[in-house]
Amino acid sequence: MADVNDLVQYVRGVGPKREELLERLGVRTIRDLLYFFPRKYHDRANLVPIEQIEADTRAMVFGDVVKVNLFRRGRGRGILTVHVRDHTGAMKAVWYNQNYLAQQFDAGDTVLLWGPVRFYKGYELVNPNFEHVGVEEHGGVALSDEQSRLVPVYSLTEGLSQGQLRPMIRAALDQYGDAVPELLPEPVRRRYDLPGIREALEHAHFPESAEDKDRAKRRLIYEEFLVFQLAIALRRRAVRSAPGIAFKTSGEFDRRARDLFPFTLTESQEEAIAAIQSDMRSPRPMNRLLQGDVGCGKTVVALYAMLMAVANKFQAAIMAPTEILAEQHYRTMTRMLDGSRVRVGLLSRSSERREVLDQVRRGDLDIVIGTHAVIQSDVTFHRLGFVVIDEQHKFGVMQRAHLRWKGRSPDVLVMTATPIPRTLALTVFGDLDVSTIRELPPGRRPVQTRHIEPERIDRAYQFIREQVASGRQAYVVCPLVEQSELVDLRSATATATELDDRVFPEFTVGLLHGRMPRDQKERVMAAFLAGDIQVLVSTIVIEVGIDVPNAAVMLVRHAERFGLAQLHQLRGRIGRGPHQATCLLVGTAKSDDARRRIEVMCETADGFRIAEEDLRIRGTGQLFGTRQHGLPDVSIGDLQEDFDLLEQARDDAAALARADPRLERPEHAPLRDRMLDLYRDRLSLIGIG
Ligand code: ADP
Ligand code: MG
Repeated sequence: MADVNDLVQYVRGVGPKREELLERLGVRTIRDLLYFFPRKYHDRANLVPIEQIEADTRAMVFGDVVKVNLFRRGRGRGILTVHVRDHTGAMKAVWYNQNYLAQQFDAGDTVLLWGPVRFYKGYELVNPNFEHVGVEEHGGVALSDEQSRLVPVYSLTEGLSQGQLRPMIRAALDQYGDAVPELLPEPVRRRYDLPGIREALEHAHFPESAEDKDRAKRRLIYEEFLVFQLAIALRRRAVRSAPGIAFKTSGEFDRRARDLFPFTLTESQEEAIAAIQSDMRSPRPMNRLLQGDVGCGKTVVALYAMLMAVANKFQAAIMAPTEILAEQHYRTMTRMLDGSRVRVGLLSRSSERREVLDQVRRGDLDIVIGTHAVIQSDVTFHRLGFVVIDEQHKFGVMQRAHLRWKGRSPDVLVMTATPIPRTLALTVFGDLDVSTIRELPPGRRPVQTRHIEPERIDRAYQFIREQVASGRQAYVVCPLVEQSELVDLRSATATATELDDRVFPEFTVGLLHGRMPRDQKERVMAAFLAGDIQVLVSTIVIEVGIDVPNAAVMLVRHAERFGLAQLHQLRGRIGRGPHQATCLLVGTAKSDDARRRIEVMCETADGFRIAEEDLRIRGTGQLFGTRQHGLPDVSIGDLQEDFDLLEQARDDAAALARADPRLERPEHAPLRDRMLDLYRDRLSLIGIG
């Protein structure tokens, strides 16, 4: 009968107009409405009748606006005074230099104000927070109703007030509360002492106490995480039980492969290779993530694995995020494989593309290198056995290989230079095994990083001059200034000209940017690598993958405009050789976040710390905002704050998937339905639903 998948129009008090407003909030069905949780709660315990207000406390006042006065002192400056009254008395609220707020108050408005109180001729709230409330709403739900101390506050859209939304949710709960399917099996609820769904929804919206609210939230967060983790667990099982390739390895192969590397592998590299070998020997497809800071030596590990595939008469492919990086991989690999019989090809957008494609199809190439886009489109492999996806730091746009070879899944290795924060490890990357390279190759000295104010840039130039005079090379990086690539390009070009003509007339200054034709880019890179260019001005194209050990200085202009992860990636371009390297961040921080980013860069070179600071500064919201990132749309939980629940849900989901891999048991039916509703697209692989 009552079905929570019905449209909200069936809820009492929801007409076509409100239906439209709700839609703007992402609420279409009755379930959406019931799961539309408050953004926060007002605690009525803080509400003070005006006659009882005291100076030097913080207070919340609920009253009507009597009068609004704005005393202007010119250009946005001034004093705004709003007189308010409740049934016990009157007082003022005062804001300084926020004249624009004046428009938001009219006599007769009912408002909630909260902030510090002082006494100056009379009681005043100073720069308080405020919220407009309809009379009926706060009055109706909160002021007269003694039992509900916490009043829910929802995110709104224009045309919809708290006072209209609250009764709709009340009605939805009354009409449909009993029709919401219980997703959590009884034993799970008992184990964690979680309330049933009806009670949880009631208390999430209209809690009687903070404890009720917290218990309800915990249950709803756990539910949300469990459904998501279940999707991952099932996918993981399915991927792992698909037919794969069981590669063979031998001492002979191992020796020959190692002979190709001009150095001894680090312990971390050895561990990663051992894990990969054991994955590759197994007849199940490998899905492994290899994480490690820039320059830690992931490429060699990938090369070893690809060679193992080639030794087994399979082809291997490596997908890079940019053309420049693909070319870099191509150069590195051709160099290392020089003298072996392994045939390597670069699949670019160039004219030889057709020919390379033919070679790939015929099996005349063993290792194929290209960008994500290039390899995913129209490539037919003769016998593809191994795929490397080099994501660098762009884990946000994680792509999985859709490459198949005669129905068999090739082994997949994903490489990332950004250490995966633990939240992501359990979500986006939840179906991968993880190897981590924690050490840098021996002999590396950490890059020294300094912040320089723009007016002292001459000192930075002087430093570069000395370094170049002693044989080093330098990068000068210009930021993305405008949205338009052309404008950015002009700024980089102008910088290059200025440096060449005026600052370093004695050196050769080169320019590299994303818009240059490939052969020109290659020429510039080759000249820089050969040392013919001493100072290379570039846009952010060098962010990934360029390896010039003699480059020991990097100057970043407008460093305040770069994100933390980006700065870290950029800095990874230097410090690759035996010389002490220096990174000069030139810029003026205009916000606290920008200042913090520069500080963090000067303090540490540890990629794991930087990744965590980055998350802290940006907040999960920004990083995880959208579906395309592969993250769940968590509506109530917070992946970082509720990490313990996320872990719990992961373990429980794994156990459930083991016990009932197709979720066929009747007690699991609601869970299964919900999971398919939310994640059907991502579960296409697993053949349920
Ligand atoms: P990543 O891909 O992790 O950023 P690379 O594989 O490009 O790092 O390696 C960075 C540099 O370190 C390269 O010049 C590479 O040849 C070198 N390198 C890698 N492993 C070692 C090692 N074990 N000893 C010395 N140098 C190494
Ligand atoms: Mg690399």
